[in-house]
Amino acid sequence: MKLEIERATKLYGRTRALDGLNLKIDSTRVLALIGPSGGGKSTFLRLLGGLEIADSGKIEVNGHQLENDPTALQAYRRRNGFLFQQFNLFPHLDARSNITLPLEKVHGHDAAKARAKADHVLDRFGLLEHASKKPSQLSGGQQQRVGIARAIAASPEILFLDEPTSALDPEMTAEVLELIQELADAGQDIILSTHEMGFARAVANQVAFVAAGKIAECAPPAILFSNPSSPICERFLSRVMRY
Ligand code: ADP
Repeated sequence: MKLEIERATKLYGRTRALDGLNLKIDSTRVLALIGPSGGGKSTFLRLLGGLEIADSGKIEVNGHQLENDPTALQAYRRRNGFLFQQFNLFPHLDARSNITLPLEKVHGHDAAKARAKADHVLDRFGLLEHASKKPSQLSGGQQQRVGIARAIAASPEILFLDEPTSALDPEMTAEVLELIQELADAGQDIILSTHEMGFARAVANQVAFVAAGKIAECAPPAILFSNPSSPICERFLSRVMRY
């Protein structure tokens, strides 16, 4: 994927969630956003995914400039897949229906095609035996894997993951991270925000450090983690990597 962001700003009331953020990357399969809580990772992810629009600045994704045009933004969102920290699934629907519903309602598939696609992704992720279970009958890790299956069922251009493991215990975190790694290995473009530094280091091609609404630095993980160029990133890493 290719991103060109210039001076992106987003305000919530008087809070500057993004404050003139710049980023230019090219030929990147996986971009990881790391940084302190409240630094702007989620906001940046929502803008990149077209879920919200910047107050000012330019956001271009794969050569497509995101404008404040509801029809164009909706078409752009349909081309992408999303997963958030928690509460991703419709609680009253079973795993399969959670996947078929958007395929039918958003992507216009007929019921048979939607079911075939849903079963294909559930099978790919080892979840077919859970197809008829409601979210409350699944573990947190299984729920997130169904959420990812839903997000990729329509073959998204980019998969956006906002702290996909932050509500999970370590074992469930591992099962979700393994799945994300597998998708990246299969060629899926992914942008994720994460607190899992080891995972960012292992899977991302580029890691962007987001703090105070800006990207302080963006580099391949081998460089950013071993030799950060900004004092703010160095301080953050020395704190979070200590334990
Ligand atoms: P991160 O993902 O790095 O934790 P966020 O993008 O969630 O950071 O938040 C950046 C800043 O914007 C924080 O100060 C947060 O409180 C604020 N913020 C984010 N979303 C909203 C919102 N919907 N309404 C008001 N403030 C928000």
